[in-house]
Amino acid sequence: MGGAVTAPAVATGETLVLAEWFGPTFQGEGPSAGTPASFVRTGGCNLGCVFCDTPYTWDGRRHDLRAELRRTPVADVVADVLAHDTPLIVITGGEPLLHQGQPGWDRLLNALSYHGRRIEVETNGTIVPSSLTSHRVAQFNCSPKLANSGEPTARRVVPAALAALAATNKAVFKFVAATPGDVDEAAAIVAAHRLPRDRVWIMPEGTSPATVLEASRAIADRVVAHRFRLTTRLHTLIWSDERRR
Ligand code: SF4
Repeated sequence: MGGAVTAPAVATGETLVLAEWFGPTFQGEGPSAGTPASFVRTGGCNLGCVFCDTPYTWDGRRHDLRAELRRTPVADVVADVLAHDTPLIVITGGEPLLHQGQPGWDRLLNALSYHGRRIEVETNGTIVPSSLTSHRVAQFNCSPKLANSGEPTARRVVPAALAALAATNKAVFKFVAATPGDVDEAAAIVAAHRLPRDRVWIMPEGTSPATVLEASRAIADRVVAHRFRLTTRLHTLIWSDERRR
């Protein structure tokens, strides 16, 4: 006989280091673009891409991370994002999967899942998702970095992590490109790591409407030539690089 299902308790001591959480807004990129969403942005990243649009989550040389990042009770975050009444919660960063293994991470996923929210995690594809993460997350928006990130290949392309993400059957692979050569480089990674081609998205680099459009025009023909999918950056077209949008 089934008993009453109670919401998973979130202990007050369960915390995560976050930069911000906000909503309601839209998911701006990839297959879910246009969906009403709330965002939870974690602190810290294991890479340092030159084009990063959220350096305040990790770059202590340019930002005061003691002011930008806060150890935050998960209960507070869950209450806030549920109040936004959005069907989708996007956990982004920084690199969110760095927080796996912390009790606060599991609690965040369990609580959002219990309340029927679709969870997407944005990751750079260098960290293997845990079994709990893979179970709770509906979609990984995996964005492997190209040479244009300024990161060496060995740091930005981790075959075991790409294979593990692909094996979840929940990952889409989103490459940031500014030139046709970037799209070719993405195609080489897709081929080398046997990533599912029908789950590959190319996204124009840019932090303003003008640069997003310029990059889109530069790469569009090559994206079609490879039969990849093209995504824009809705939030950038609408709000440029305004924070918490
Ligand atoms: S992986 Fe993402 S968050 Fe980390 S530095 Fe690169 S663009 Fe920024």
